[in-house]
Amino acid sequence: MGFDLGRFSGEVDEELICPICSQVLEEPVQVVTCEHAFCQACIHEWLSRQPTCPVDRQAITSANLRSVPRILRNLLSRLNIACDNAIYGCSQVLKLDALQSHIDECEHNPKRPMPCESGCGFIIPKDEFKDHNCVRELRTLCHQQQQKMTELKTEIADQNITINELKRELNLIKDFMRAMRVSNPAMRAIADQMERDEVIRWSNSLPRARVTRWGGMISTPDDSLQLMVKRALSESGCPPHILDELMENCHERRWPRGLSSLETRQNNRRIYDNYVCRRVPNKQAVLVLPCDNSHMSDDVMVEPGLVMIFAHGIE
Ligand SMILES: [Zn+2]
Ligand SMILES: [Zn+2]
Ligand SMILES: [Zn+2]
Ligand SMILES: [Zn+2]
Repeated sequence: MGFDLGRFSGEVDEELICPICSQVLEEPVQVVTCEHAFCQACIHEWLSRQPTCPVDRQAITSANLRSVPRILRNLLSRLNIACDNAIYGCSQVLKLDALQSHIDECEHNPKRPMPCESGCGFIIPKDEFKDHNCVRELRTLCHQQQQKMTELKTEIADQNITINELKRELNLIKDFMRAMRVSNPAMRAIADQMERDEVIRWSNSLPRARVTRWGGMISTPDDSLQLMVKRALSESGCPPHILDELMENCHERRWPRGLSSLETRQNNRRIYDNYVCRRVPNKQAVLVLPCDNSHMSDDVMVEPGLVMIFAHGIE
């Protein structure tokens, strides 16, 4: 359909009128042979019913259409037309080629998107404000998000199942490798590497800790204290193959020379400041692992690492 003739000010040339809709040509095309021009939408609708030119009845198809000459387009673009939103109070009259960009911004456009100022902040077409209810809109949004959350929870649960299955499978493979490593040196090397990687991953997952008072170190922790720390290590994901040995190393009887007596410990406090320590979660205790402490001398390190329990002074 063309532009309503009544919207134009001044005379409109006969050649600019579509013979099908009798309005001013909109997106005009013409028939190659007879040069009759029509609105694009009008002629396509016409041809869908009968394959002829509406003016002279010669046989044509949509393949016989082409864009109109520039002079015709120029004539059209110079026509003055009233804004689409004239009935909503817009008094603007524009050149036809400036119409669309004006409509996009016309403040009388009933469909112009506006932010709701009564609270919800949603951007909605202006003419929907009369039926707009912030609470209802927000409720719908809440509901949608709740559904989304439920979906995500299900997805997470599914993935946890998959992860647990993978963990179980991985443990089987580890058991298998441990069984094989005894007789097979190549297998031993791979298994050792896997175990080292496991320790490094675990170490990286623990937060760094700083010991502010080395004097607070408990060199002979009792069994119940050891058990508490052991449980915390296990819960933090300590690889099982080093857990027992690590806990053995929380007592001064297993400490290396640089830590072995009260006297050396007092003399070496400055050296201990160079330790890279990891926090045992929720405990006044730190882990000193060889993978973090390759810069420390053998005097103050031991495999598979040290556990140091304190009365206080861990940050
Ligand atoms: Zn038309
Ligand atoms: Zn024709
Ligand atoms: Zn307007
Ligand atoms: Zn609102």
